[in-house]
Amino acid sequence: MTIFQKILDRQIPARSVAEDEHCLAFHDVNPQAPVHVLVIPKVAVRSLAEATDAGMLGQVMLMAARVARELGIEDSGYRVVLNTNGNAGQTVFHLHAHVLGGRVMTWPPG
Ligand code: 5GP
Repeated sequence: MTIFQKILDRQIPARSVAEDEHCLAFHDVNPQAPVHVLVIPKVAVRSLAEATDAGMLGQVMLMAARVARELGIEDSGYRVVLNTNGNAGQTVFHLHAHVLGGRVMTWPPG
């Protein structure tokens, strides 16, 4: 079981930001920006590479946009990232979108 499944199951705590029937959003424990929130689907899918449900992916994206709006980074701008497998640095194998904002982002990412 992944750490994110344990967060979904309320076995370990997380600082929740938003929740609906499809997704949970919570603050990253090791933030890389003033706003760094993770959005996870309630279904267990290992990564974007294994996702087949477009509706689920859409719900994750819509929740990411909602979080950005509610945390006040919509106008200043933000980045949504889905690290997928090793070279991208994925460490938790429950699909998740990082919502990063509150500072200027560099491009390309390192
Ligand atoms: P990945 O590297 O897989 O794209 O992102 C995993 C993210 O999960 C990292 O940014 C890491 O800080 C975060 N993370 C890992 N364990 C926990 C935890 O127990 N609680 C929270 N809130 N975030 C976690």
